[in-house]
Amino acid sequence: MNCSSCKKTRELHKLSYTDRKYCTSCLVSLLERRIKKLFREKNTPNLILKKEDSLEFDFAFFFLKKLFPREEIKISNNGVKPSSLDEQAFLLLDAFINNKTLEKKTYFPENILIEEMELLRDYIKSSNKPRFKNNKLLNELKRNYPDVLFSILQSKLFLETKSFL
Ligand SMILES: [Zn+2]
Repeated sequence: MNCSSCKKTRELHKLSYTDRKYCTSCLVSLLERRIKKLFREKNTPNLILKKEDSLEFDFAFFFLKKLFPREEIKISNNGVKPSSLDEQAFLLLDAFINNKTLEKKTYFPENILIEEMELLRDYIKSSNKPRFKNNKLLNELKRNYPDVLFSILQSKLFLETKSFL
């Protein structure tokens, strides 16, 4: 089997939402492009992260360092909370279903799935568990609509730009 992107024969990663399979270096480029896209849609990133022992923190720290090699990535209790697309989608759905107000907090990254972080675990040298656990609602949705979390994020970004959130 060859990588769907570079066509080289390498060890490939399988994702739940697409039939395409990627080698590690193409998966890293794919996620980097997605993170940069988020930075273009939102403000310049905050380079202060909230410390926690989680896969999300390790992923966030690794990619901020990779994307901003000349900047210092700081750690603080008031920093940006490490997160994932799974958690962001859950927070939005939970707010809608239970008629709650969405907390105005900053998170990073908002658009990377836990499963994508898991696939790069060796690459980012993380042995921590994800803080956010997938739950029944998300699993059920994903089973029926594999790319639904991406759509939920797009709706969230749309609502944010229209100041509904
Ligand atoms: Zn590749």
